[in-house]
Parts: sequence; structure tokens; C-alpha cells
Amino acid sequence: MLDTRELGRRPGSQHEVTRTVPAPAELGIEVLHVPEGSPVEIDLRLEAVMEGVLVTGTATAALEGECARCLEPIDDDVDVTFQELFVYDDQSHAPADDGLDDEASRLEGDLLDLEPLLRDAVVLVLPFQPLCEDDCPGLCVECGARLADDPDHAHEAAIDPRWAGLASLQQDAPPENDEN
Ligand SMILES: [Zn+2]
Ligand SMILES: [Zn+2]
Repeated sequence: MLDTRELGRRPGSQHEVTRTVPAPAELGIEVLHVPEGSPVEIDLRLEAVMEGVLVTGTATAALEGECARCLEPIDDDVDVTFQELFVYDDQSHAPADDGLDDEASRLEGDLLDLEPLLRDAVVLVLPFQPLCEDDCPGLCVECGARLADDPDHAHEAAIDPRWAGLASLQQDAPPENDEN
């Protein structure tokens, strides 16, 4: 929550805010996220406009996750920019009349809640399949070794497990017409 009292409500007044906040829980996606409680550096410019407060900002945080292909830990950081208009919550006319939809972010008194904004901005820039390197070769399908560590790695040609199962079925099948 950010207090906008210092900004005032005179359209055109501006206020810069720089602060470091602890990351909320579940900031990011399951495979790649900002560890809860780790520092998120936020740089904001607040600008009073007729309808409310326009917030423009950047946030930087460390990321933790694992490679979608080889499961190695990923150590990275995320840098996001965002902009959102927070509408004053004491506007007397109905939302339908002022052209602002019901989804608009609203100030709660003098306070604005940055968390949903930060959450959306972070999720938007994260890859669904994070990789340790762009061309990570993943894991060996036969032994699970990480191929990036051992690129020349090879196995004796083995029977494809699907065919191996079929071969044993044929061997175990009882002979047909064994009654006579
Ligand atoms: Zn990888
Ligand atoms: Zn292998």
C-alpha cells in the first residue's frame, strides 16, 4: 500500500517514490517466481490527474526457478515496467457515467495497492517454459543425464521399450489349437 497524501490532488502535481518492498507470496509462476520476502526495488512516478492518480513505474527483483528441460536451478532477475490509473474512490457519479469501467483500479482513500499491478506485470514477462540457456538440450531420455554437461554422451543401441514389451508377449503366447 502506498500513501498518496504527499502528492495531493491538484491535477498536474507529481511525486517520485523509490522504495524496496518485500516480495509478496506467489509473485510469478510456479516454475519461475520471485522468492517470497526477497527485495523488490520499485521506482514510481505518481501524477495527479482529474480522475485519480496515474502511476508509472519500474520494478526489479530476483527470480528463482528451474529449467523446464533439464531442471537445473535458474538464477535470473526480472525487470518490469507498468502504468496504471488509480481512480479516486469518492467520485460521486456512477462508474457508467465517467467512461471508466468497473475493472478500473481504485484508490482506497489516499492509499493505492500496487500488488495486483506488480503481479500482472511480472507474470506477463515470464516465459511459460523457462530455460537455463536458450538452447538447453534437456535430459537424456534413457538415463536422465543432463546433456548440457555431457553433450557427447551415447548409449548402446537398446531395444525400444515399446517393442521389447511386444516381443515378450509373443514369446509367452500359448500356441494356438493345442487341444487336439
Ligand atoms: Zn536447462
Ligand atoms: Zn543417457
